[in-house]
Amino acid sequence: MKQVDLLYTGKAKSVYRTDDPDVYIMKFRDDITAFDGGKKDTLGGKGRYNAEVSSFFFRYLEENGIRTHYLASVEPAVIAVRGLTMIPLEVIVRNVAAGSIVRNYPFREGEVLDPPVIVIDYKSDAHHDPMLNDDLIYALGLATPEELDQIKAMALAINEVLSEYLDARGITLVDFKLEFGRSNAEIVVGDEISMDSMRLWDKETGASLDKDVYRFNKGDVLETYAGVAKRILAPPKGGSA
Ligand code: 5GP
Repeated sequence: MKQVDLLYTGKAKSVYRTDDPDVYIMKFRDDITAFDGGKKDTLGGKGRYNAEVSSFFFRYLEENGIRTHYLASVEPAVIAVRGLTMIPLEVIVRNVAAGSIVRNYPFREGEVLDPPVIVIDYKSDAHHDPMLNDDLIYALGLATPEELDQIKAMALAINEVLSEYLDARGITLVDFKLEFGRSNAEIVVGDEISMDSMRLWDKETGASLDKDVYRFNKGDVLETYAGVAKRILAPPKGGSA
């Protein structure tokens, strides 16, 4: 399989075609952005940590019966993925109130949300990712009711699997964002699951272990990403698996 041409470049990743029409190459760049692109930097090595964590989570989800676009790791910051027709939705699962729902609604930061709350935004830079509801999703023709039911069920199943995994490593999965695509008629998890798309808090100290460190200048971003990647890839505290 050979990389051919650049298909798409996002804020932190680039996607290339290959000589196999079903396989794409996804490069996690060292760029980091926040606030709708209002804050931007390049942090040498950052792409690698996000690629490692995403690859790990994709493999772990596959082991737990959840279909993802992941095919293989190619280089430290590069993965091969299955081609999907992406659905322009940002599906956010929230276990603890933080970020935009605290700014926009009367939740206290740190309040536990049980059951978890799913929020779906329209992935559109031109519209600044506005929140959608089911009727808007159908009216815009973004997904059918059956697809949306499946997307929500998959998001909740992923939340259970990842929350439990992270909890065993002393990390609270506060919230995270997923993107989905279609592969024939099947709904598959795409994009990434990394420190750029999750909010992770240390269970003991409450410290942020994710992009909030960058957004709010809470410390050394690279050191945080390296540390949390190591914790995620390690066996659980006191366990052997
Ligand atoms: P919030 O709505 O509080 O800004 O974000 C909720 C969660 O979804 C956070 O974990 C955040 O990192 C993730 N998220 C929301 N929008 C985006 C986005 O456009 N890109 C990425 N990578 N993550 C997002």
